[in-house]
Amino acid sequence: MNTFKDLGLPNFIIETLDTLGYKNPTSVQAAAIPKALLGKNIVGLSQTGTGKTAAFLLPIITNLHKGRSRARMPRSLVLCPTRELAAQVIENFTTYSEKTKLSSALLIGGVSFKDQDKKLDRGVDVIIATPGRLLDHFSRGKIMLTGIEILAIDEADKMLDMGFIPDVTKILESIPQVQQKILFSATISDEIEKLTKKFMKDAHRVEISRSATVTKDVNQSLIFIDKLTNKKINKNQFLVEYLKT
Ligand code: AMP
Repeated sequence: MNTFKDLGLPNFIIETLDTLGYKNPTSVQAAAIPKALLGKNIVGLSQTGTGKTAAFLLPIITNLHKGRSRARMPRSLVLCPTRELAAQVIENFTTYSEKTKLSSALLIGGVSFKDQDKKLDRGVDVIIATPGRLLDHFSRGKIMLTGIEILAIDEADKMLDMGFIPDVTKILESIPQVQQKILFSATISDEIEKLTKKFMKDAHRVEISRSATVTKDVNQSLIFIDKLTNKKINKNQFLVEYLKT
């Protein structure tokens, strides 16, 4: 089994992960982190709960920790489909970057622009944003995207479900200079495939097989209820009764 050191992560991050009690990288981390540290584009097929957030945040922190932020010119952008996910990602970022001077800002809807503007004016390294609010700041001239070096798109399938692909496309078109793009999605539909083909040349694909995402402690079984009982019955009811036995 790989260790975090084997993946090429620096000591200061390994120390942080140690204090968090992370003993070994998850499959998606082991597959994505070494490539991401080399600056490669990554398309990751991975669901929530697999450790995908650290798979893109740890390389971002490693690759950016030596530079300095400039006013209104962030160096990395993480796009999330929902405010809740964005809030979770920034929480993880704050934890993982504890031993660095990197700063971050959360740009999400439903909160006032004032505090977000203030942070941007001071200069932040990493922006974690929902697409709509990022474009609002961009069109108001409060943020420049020309300094973005690494872009991560989290839960791209949900972006699609929520109708954000036009916004994401607009953002991608505004940052042709970006050297590294990382996209994670639970499923890769035709639309997501089209997006990655257009904007993420030579992306390295990371696919975590279904079996690897299911913990060993969970027993799985498949029951054809209709065949078993020979009649149509309520599946939820059956499940409750079945679990009681
Ligand atoms: P995610 O799939 O990114 O939402 O992560 C799921 C959970 O796993 C989060 O609570 C993380 O803190 C945790 N986690 C991520 N990587 C590891 C690891 N290598 N070892 C233990 N826990 C981890």
